[in-house]
Amino acid sequence: MGDRIITILACSACKDKNYAFQRGKKKDYKLEVNKFCRKCGKSTAHKESKQ
Ligand SMILES: [Zn+2]
Repeated sequence: MGDRIITILACSACKDKNYAFQRGKKKDYKLEVNKFCRKCGKSTAHKESKQ
């Protein structure tokens, strides 16, 4: 309960914060996923970013 935190995914190329989602509080890993960035106009690696 109450363990939900908002995680921001930021484009590794332009640093734009494109995606936000909720997940648990455990932080044993660094999230990195390929997502489409509107600013770059293509899929780029998005990394977990501090708010
Ligand atoms: Zn970008």
